[in-house]
Amino acid sequence: MRTGRLAPSPTGLLHLGNAWAFWLAWLDIRSLGGKLVLRLENIDPARSRAEYEQALRKDLAWLGLDWDTEAPPQSTRGARYDQVLEALACRGLSYPCYCTRKELRSLAGAPHMNDAGAPYPGTCRNLTTGERAALEAAGRRSSLRLRCPAKAIWRFTDRVRGAQSATLEDCGGDFALRRSDGVYAYQLAVVVDDLDQGVTSVVRGCDILISTPRQMYLYSLLQAEPPSYAHIPLVLDHEGERLAKRHGSLSLAALRDAGIRPETLLGLLAGLAGLQETYAPLRAAELLQRSGTNFSLEQVRRDSLILPANPVEAMLAQQG
Ligand code: GLU
Repeated sequence: MRTGRLAPSPTGLLHLGNAWAFWLAWLDIRSLGGKLVLRLENIDPARSRAEYEQALRKDLAWLGLDWDTEAPPQSTRGARYDQVLEALACRGLSYPCYCTRKELRSLAGAPHMNDAGAPYPGTCRNLTTGERAALEAAGRRSSLRLRCPAKAIWRFTDRVRGAQSATLEDCGGDFALRRSDGVYAYQLAVVVDDLDQGVTSVVRGCDILISTPRQMYLYSLLQAEPPSYAHIPLVLDHEGERLAKRHGSLSLAALRDAGIRPETLLGLLAGLAGLQETYAPLRAAELLQRSGTNFSLEQVRRDSLILPANPVEAMLAQQG
């Protein structure tokens, strides 16, 4: 059974970009007759809040996006993540890393794929037991890193972006599985969850593309097939900036409060993406079948969706 997922992080209010990503994930699985899982990615206790969880459920329902089952939230999955960490450690695949963020930031390096920065230089890769003990005695806390084959090339066909290839070095080299404060890393949690939940189709923003080879490597270590990937274009403001906290007026809650209807917002997104010729209002399911053709992710272009300078006014104008 084809299985997709909505994997929101309850760390803030959903914005237009999240609506776009969740709508496409929903359209994809609904067009394939598959099953959609909702999974709360509340892995980071310091950033996740119950109020955002409630808000995102309300937003998804308002958009008209439903799901078939709900997976256990990441905050409840520690024992399972530990089990995988233990298995990787037993195979000598992970090691404690004592580098601080500050030390790593100070490394100059050529920019790599997206914003990975310089790859991890391997400082703690081959420390002796004595060196580890000395660092620990000095009060250093360790994260856990995965030993990665730096030069091997990872290839996959992205359903929106086509043929992709990168080495793990391009993607930042040895990466963290658990942070020094004990929080499980996104890369680990997302792979173990997608695997356990039978996810076969991942649809997410192209800002996460850089993580995909790392996740594919984890799949290979767990002797599992990775899902198919679609990295969709981002929604940018009129100056080409990614949507962030300062775009609070573009949160779904704020748009709803401004009197905008969900179909107006979806119509704008579809128009910006070239999935319809105008910005005419559109309900979530209306893209499933239009003029005799079924929706397929392959119809989505790679170009970013650039919002008009006054998106709220543009949407209100559509409502007449
Ligand atoms: N929870 C992640 C986010 O909200 C999604 C990660 C993913 O789709 O793999 O950005």
